[in-house]
Amino acid sequence: MEDCLFCKIAAGDMDTDFVYQDEQLVVFEDINPQAPVHLLIVPKKHISDLNNLKSADNDLIGHVYQIAKKMAAEHDISESGYRLVSNCGDDGGQSVYHIHFHLLGGRKLQWPPG
Ligand code: 5GP
Ligand code: ZN
Repeated sequence: MEDCLFCKIAAGDMDTDFVYQDEQLVVFEDINPQAPVHLLIVPKKHISDLNNLKSADNDLIGHVYQIAKKMAAEHDISESGYRLVSNCGDDGGQSVYHIHFHLLGGRKLQWPPG
């Protein structure tokens, strides 16, 4: 996708430091962190949002959760706890329309979110 920020980042075109990468996704630090640990897990495939997820993407999303677990362990928040969030649409607070998952931890997170 031309003009998609996260497609460009995932392709390595933006000189972003990846915390982790494999054939299906990349992980990098959020530019505006909301917690001591705030990583973005971004599939390389362009899917604009959750509404456009297909059943063919089920393995990919399962992989996202496995990598979230691994990243949590590597950042020492497995035991303290963390949150994996995907915002969808305007009311959900989505600002980048390329599906991604926020991994947040390292502090007590509020519930419900604002
Ligand atoms: P959303 O608001 O769509 O759920 O999440 C998008 C996230 O991407 C935001 O938390 C925002 O701070 C982050 N973000 C936007 N542009 C960039 C960027 O160029 N680099 C990085 N690392 N994060 C970005
Ligand atoms: Zn994209």
